[in-house]
Parts: sequence; C-alpha cells; structure tokens
Amino acid sequence: MDNNSWFSQISFRQRVWLFVTLIGMFVIIAVGILTDSSQKSEQLQDFNINMSIQDIAPKLDITGKGLAREFKMPLNVHKNRPLGSLGVTDKELKHVTGHLLSHRDTTLKYYVFTALVLWGLVFLVKLGRPEGSDIKNRRGWYPRMPYVISLLLSVTIAGFFMGKSPNPMEGVVKIFKSMVGLYPDPMAKTVAFFFFIVLAVVGNKIICGWACPFGSLQELIYSIPILRKIKQRKLPFVLTNAIRVCLFTAMIFFLFGIIGGNKGFVIYHNINPFNLFNLDFESVGILLTVIIALLGAFFVYRPFCQFVCPFGFVSWIAERFSIYRVRIDKDKCTKCGACIKACPLEATKGLVEGKKLPADCFSCARCLNVCPTDAIKYTSNAR
Ligand code: SF4
Ligand code: SF4
Repeated sequence: MDNNSWFSQISFRQRVWLFVTLIGMFVIIAVGILTDSSQKSEQLQDFNINMSIQDIAPKLDITGKGLAREFKMPLNVHKNRPLGSLGVTDKELKHVTGHLLSHRDTTLKYYVFTALVLWGLVFLVKLGRPEGSDIKNRRGWYPRMPYVISLLLSVTIAGFFMGKSPNPMEGVVKIFKSMVGLYPDPMAKTVAFFFFIVLAVVGNKIICGWACPFGSLQELIYSIPILRKIKQRKLPFVLTNAIRVCLFTAMIFFLFGIIGGNKGFVIYHNINPFNLFNLDFESVGILLTVIIALLGAFFVYRPFCQFVCPFGFVSWIAERFSIYRVRIDKDKCTKCGACIKACPLEATKGLVEGKKLPADCFSCARCLNVCPTDAIKYTSNAR
C-alpha cells in the first residue's frame, strides 16, 4: 500500500472520521479568526525617547521591570524618567520595542495549534491504519504524506506566516519570567503554559510532534531520505536529557538572580530559534542556534528538542500522564527489536524494556508500522 492509495483503502467509517475532523479543524480556526485579539498594529513611531518606561511598558504587555531588563538596566531603575535621560538612543528604543512587539501573542495561533493537534491525534488513533488491512500491508499503515503535509502547515502557517509567538518554548519560559515580575498579567502566562502542557498530555508530546513550527522544521529535514546509516545511531538519552536539564536549571538560577546577581536574565534569550519565523536574528547566538539545529537535523533527530528546549524537558515529564501515547502490548511483543530500530530516539527501547522513565516520544509514528505482531498502538488503552 503506498501513500497514494491510502485514501482509497481507508474504510467508510474512517472517511467519516476524516470528514468530521476536517470540519472540526475548520470550525476551530474559524472561531480563532473571529475571536483573535492580536493588536499588532501598534506602530513603532508611537514610541520616542522622551517617554518613560512607565509610559511605554503597558503598551507592550510588559512590566516596568521587564522593560528595564530589555534595555539591560537594573530592575530598580527610575521608571518615570525619560528614556533619553537614562542613556537610551532612538535606535535602541526601536530595537527593543520591535523585539517586544514581535513577542506579542496572537490568540489565533492557539487555535491553529489546537487544530493541528486534533489532526495528528485523529490520524494516529483512527486514520493511519486502514481498517481491515492485512498485516502484511503494515509498512504502509502509516503513510508519511499526511504527516508531511501537517508539518509543512505548521512551519508555514504557525511559523513563518504567524510569527514566533506564541510557541511552546516561550510558554514555559514566560511563566518563570512572570515569577520575577517581568509581565503584568501572570495569569495569562499561566494559562498559556497550561495550554501547551494539556495538549502534551492529551497526546504524548503531540504538540511537539505535529504542531510546533521549529520542531516540525527539524522533523522535515530529518525525514529527507539521506544519510540513513548515520541516522541509525541514536544519541544516549541520558546525555541529551542531562544537558537539557542543566540548561533548564541554569535558566532558573540566572533568572532569579541566584547566580550572576542579574535578576531577570534569561539564558535562552540568545539561543531562541523561534526568531527564525520573524527573520529576526538579533544576536549571533540565535543565528548560530538556528544554523546548528537545522544542519544537525540532517544527521540527528530534532537536535534542538533533544538538547536544549525547555518545553521538551517539561513535556517529557508531562508524558508520564499522557492519555494517548504509544503503548506496547506485552503479551504480543516478541522483543524482536523492529520498533527499536525504527524509532529515531531511545523511546521504544525504553517502552519495550518497561523503563519507568523512557526517552521522549514525539508521536512521529515511525514505530507504528513495523511491528510484525501488531503489538504497538497509539492508544489510550493501557492494557
Ligand atoms: S521540544 Fe522541539 S518541538 Fe517541542 S516545543 Fe521545543 S522546539 Fe518545539
Ligand atoms: S518512533 Fe519513537 S518517537 Fe516516534 S512515535 Fe514511536 S516511540 Fe515515539
């Protein structure tokens, strides 16, 4: 069964699922468009250096402390004095306000993420396997094309078209930034954080696997069928996760001023690859991160997600509670290793071995088409 014949082979019931899912996605996005509260029309020329931090900060959804942080000033700087008198130039003001405006959330993007996650979930659970297929046709049970289309939509629509914010990485970082008083509305950041976590819990890291624009871009590059031998080598999860945990811990220590004494400093700021989607390479670190992650993705599965992303780490913990996820029927599993070979990470290895804390699973579906005994499913059934 090849990708072209996938639609012709799915059952009538699955076609109904497909139809209802597409309608559902359409409705979700329509509601998002109707309720979109983004106000990106704020013009940069509305700000000038005769204004104070107090004047400008509320217009950028940031606190005075947060704005002072962006100007690299102490958090207790006089916030009612003109910026010019604090040494801020027009160029710096333009740079900082432009940067902050690019981070303002468009609520529509939350709906786009939800629609993509819905598609991924229904595909993994209901549509990937044509009902009644012969077990010999298993290799075609998960046609790649619907996944590739979803990834392309994620990169183009949720990425380049809608810009970098919101995104799952920010969702984690901003809740901690709220704790040191950098945002005026901590509740909004809390809601955003839980939005991403809930999606990761509904389907195992499915927000990463199917909707995150930078994750999708790395997935697309990795999916190019070249360098197969190199890709067979998996990075030890112990190592990748240790680096990710160290960065996350360092972020907390620096942000709260426990190390460095520079409260409000975010170590991810200069390695945030989501800036790619605004073509905003404000520091060499960002440009280098994007280049290294995307070049690395030719050889290694999602290098940024494995080594750096704070959401990757937090959602790895959340995966323990995921409702839908890859599950292995121990009674059927012969431990033949086919799924372990297919998985780009050590995730299936951990599942087969029954580890309590297996490696991340990005719900990529690679393992779901290889089992000779049909022991693996993407399911909520924990038998
Ligand atoms: S782990 Fe990867 S896919 Fe998930 S939020 Fe981070 S960058 Fe995106
Ligand atoms: S191949 Fe690995 S990462 Fe992909 S769905 Fe299976 S267990 Fe998850």
